[in-house]
Amino acid sequence: RRAQQNTESALAQTSAAKEEVTQLYQKSLELDRLKTEFFANISHELRTPLTLIISPLTRRLALGLSAAERGEDELILRNARLLYRQVSDLLDVAKLEAGHMAVDYAHIDIAELTRAVASQFDSLAKEKNISYLIDAPEPLPAEADGEKVQRVLLNLLANAFKFTPDGGSIRLTLRKDADMAVIDVQDNGPGIPEEMREVVFERFRQVEGGAQRRFGGTGLGLAIVKEFTELHRGTVTLNQSEGGGALFSILLPLRAPQGTLVRDTSTQL
Ligand code: ADP
Repeated sequence: RRAQQNTESALAQTSAAKEEVTQLYQKSLELDRLKTEFFANISHELRTPLTLIISPLTRRLALGLSAAERGEDELILRNARLLYRQVSDLLDVAKLEAGHMAVDYAHIDIAELTRAVASQFDSLAKEKNISYLIDAPEPLPAEADGEKVQRVLLNLLANAFKFTPDGGSIRLTLRKDADMAVIDVQDNGPGIPEEMREVVFERFRQVEGGAQRRFGGTGLGLAIVKEFTELHRGTVTLNQSEGGGALFSILLPLRAPQGTLVRDTSTQL
């Protein structure tokens, strides 16, 4: 009888524990859902006002202002874009972590997109007296997530401009190789030591102790580059450029995986 009582009480305890685990699990699912919702909201709340600074300013700059007016507006625009990029990197890392990042495939001209993104750095190139070559002449139709490809290019170019000293050179080339787009971003800055060439793609990672650290930054840019490229089933490699600086090469499939829904157009900032 005693043994039976013991068994019954053990069984009751087990079922109470089971119930508790189930409740905890449901609570964690609910928290996950709230967190995802929070990041979607905050992403919208932070990026929308920035877009409303960037878009009118871009239109204003297209009007042909005097050199004095341009200088200031360009500075505002550049910093607003920097903030937009950093906020986006931060939020997207959280989204990637939660596994909620989807690829929004659309028909895009990747050459046109490349030129548009690259031209955002024209004024900076002039200011830093950097010889800046953009080589993406032919239309190159692709099925890709325009916003993500744009962010990959922005992050690579922003780094190239950040680390290349005044008077240096930066080159961006886009070409087609079979069913892939090949994007090379190279500079003649300090480069990245061979033993660091893999880890710089990890989140938060920066080249320690190098001259680079004084440039600030979040250490998220290259993680986003890698993760967005890989979401497209592409690859990114890092080598030394001819000029001794960094050479980043992106290989991006021109077609979406079979059976994927591909929209007509894509959004661009
Ligand atoms: P952040 O630039 O915000 O530090 P990233 O993830 O974009 O973060 O880059 C990580 C690190 O890789 C940088 O801190 C820098 O040390 C190095 N790095 C990236 N791009 C270059 C480059 N073009 N030239 C030299 N070092 C670079």
